[in-house]
Amino acid sequence: MRPHGPAIPICVTSPSDEVTRLEEAARESERQYHDIQMQLAHANRVATMGYLSASIAHELNQPLSGVVVSAETALLWLQGDQPNIPEAQKALTRIVRDGNRAGDVFRRIRTLIKKAPPQKDSLDINDVILEIIGLTQGEAAKNRVQILTRLEDGLPPIEGDRVQLQQVTLNLIMNALEAIGDRDAGPREILISTAETPSGYVHVRVQDSGPGIDPANLERIFDAFYTTKANGLGMGLSICRSIIEAHGGKLWATTGVQHGASFQFTVPAVG
Ligand code: ADP
Repeated sequence: MRPHGPAIPICVTSPSDEVTRLEEAARESERQYHDIQMQLAHANRVATMGYLSASIAHELNQPLSGVVVSAETALLWLQGDQPNIPEAQKALTRIVRDGNRAGDVFRRIRTLIKKAPPQKDSLDINDVILEIIGLTQGEAAKNRVQILTRLEDGLPPIEGDRVQLQQVTLNLIMNALEAIGDRDAGPREILISTAETPSGYVHVRVQDSGPGIDPANLERIFDAFYTTKANGLGMGLSICRSIIEAHGGKLWATTGVQHGASFQFTVPAVG
């Protein structure tokens, strides 16, 4: 006769199965964390680009107006009994140049907005910075802020994701612009400099002439959802820090009474 009573569960998993299961669960939660980070990073980038739309429109308007003016000029040179072919050719060359410039702006925006997994490319950090300066120049001019650069020539390449590093630069420049905001007095400048460190890193500094940061908050500003802005989300710096750390570098802030805030990051050089 079979004994009655509650069924006793039979343990079929060995300790090593249990370790494998836990490891798999850990990997899965790491994957989910990474996915969420990527989604946040993407949302932040799209929001910033939306905010920059006036600046981007201005950036596109210039070459497009150039195209129209040159096309009208070409038509004039081609009119009449004795069309001036060389002048018309010059105007047409300007149309090609301006058309390509507008195309470049589109390409830069498209790569920034695209949702793509992180890449590992060999990059010149100066190029990454100059592309973002191109996109933010209009917004800076609107705010009467000058973006100055001191980019070291012949920097070693770094390995990383162009779009993510552009996002970091974009966030730091936008924060600097907002910090300078509507201050009446003093210089209105952002200085971006790059250099190679003796320990084999490329170093980037974004320094502004805003009010600076209370030294007591120098670490807190990197916390997720920490913001002092009425419409701020407080995600920008926390995303920037995780991007830089994923590249094997560090991101930190310093502040001076006279010089506003200074955000600096390092990324290991390769080769
Ligand atoms: P958000 O811009 O949405 O507030 P961030 O994470 O980018 O989010 O910034 C967090 C906070 O850090 C800002 O609200 C601001 O108080 C401070 N901060 C960031 N950049 C600067 C800067 N350049 N100068 C002064 N304060 C800054």
